[in-house]
Amino acid sequence: MPVPKVRKSRQRTRQKKAASLKFAKPALTLCSHCGQPKKPHTVCSNCGYYRGRQVKTIKK
Ligand SMILES: [Zn+2]
Repeated sequence: MPVPKVRKSRQRTRQKKAASLKFAKPALTLCSHCGQPKKPHTVCSNCGYYRGRQVKTIKK
């Protein structure tokens, strides 16, 4: 198995990672209660529902 000749510096590793994160889109799912897009595994910020029940009251 080939082995790298020169070790990459932490700066180069992190720069590369930052460049790829720049184009990564955040994961979004649709809320099962109101249908608005939301982050997975979080309480919906539009209706306050999580896993089919209300866990948070949203001020209107
Ligand atoms: Zn919702």
